[in-house]
Amino acid sequence: MSLTRGGLRDLQALPKAHLHLHFTGSMRQQTLLELAAERGIRLPRSLTDDVALQVEPTRRGWFRFQRQYDAARAVVDSEAAMRRILHEAVLDDAAEGSGRLELQVDPTSYAPFVGGLTPALEIVLDQAALSERETGVSVGIIVAASRTRHPLDARTLARLAARNAGPVVGFGLSNDERRGTTAEYGPAFRIAREAGLLSVPHGGELLGPEHVRDVVDHLGPHRLGHGVRAAEDPRLLDRIVEAGIGLEVCPASNASLGVLDTAADVPLRRLVEAGAQIALGADDPLLFGSRLLDQYETARAVGFDDAELAELAASSIRVSSAPEPVKQRLLGGVRDWLAAEPLPR
Ligand SMILES: [Zn+2]
Repeated sequence: MSLTRGGLRDLQALPKAHLHLHFTGSMRQQTLLELAAERGIRLPRSLTDDVALQVEPTRRGWFRFQRQYDAARAVVDSEAAMRRILHEAVLDDAAEGSGRLELQVDPTSYAPFVGGLTPALEIVLDQAALSERETGVSVGIIVAASRTRHPLDARTLARLAARNAGPVVGFGLSNDERRGTTAEYGPAFRIAREAGLLSVPHGGELLGPEHVRDVVDHLGPHRLGHGVRAAEDPRLLDRIVEAGIGLEVCPASNASLGVLDTAADVPLRRLVEAGAQIALGADDPLLFGSRLLDQYETARAVGFDDAELAELAASSIRVSSAPEPVKQRLLGGVRDWLAAEPLPR
């Protein structure tokens, strides 16, 4: 039954947690333009137009995506640029009603400009604390390794993350799922889990259920980055639900990278009906032209009513690693949002 009583509540005002956002991919387009101009860097037109990236779900398509990501990353060559990007990501989240942001950073990319991996992470953690204080958005950092690098590099990053457990809340694994052997990243994830960090690898984005099973078996995930392809295998999905593994679902990203035809094809209803804990995320808004709020609008467009949207927001908060008082405050906000009268249509 719809609780909207003929109206719609403002999704911006719905408290939510944003658990799938990459550091460089969060950059405002205007910031990218300014940083590139200061450095005399010429950007590919596809990064400066207002058209969302659209590629095929092939190696070639991923390569095109990665090339754009690398072009954007080239402007992030100083502490000041890193601080600005992080602060703006938190400001933008605040403007969309996010009360908890968990931002993924692979410090390897920025280390050469700031004196190494440790200073790169220290800058990120320091700015995260400053931005949290200024905006009121609770911020946690996820250190992410890349499938394009050796599993020993992942272990180095896992140890760095473990040493900074607290402000670092999780350990991830990103980039093309077809690269690397999942099991070889197991030791890195063990280091992270033993330090009390959440295991939050990507999985079930480009590859199907077989790969999701691999990730679940070897990396002990608390949440899966994407994981939408688990919807193709009911038994696997049941296993994920029973294990309480959250799914960071990013409809616009899936559409841009050709995982789905359109964002509205996201199997949200199937995932929710199976009992999955979902956190909608924007992934790389710079490239996909779509931010956190847009993902909730997509859910509304595919038929989720206000009570169901509130439940999506609540599940994003529950599967976050926000401190308990923050979770309770945000969950209270979700209840208040639903209890308030909707706006007239
Ligand atoms: Zn991602």
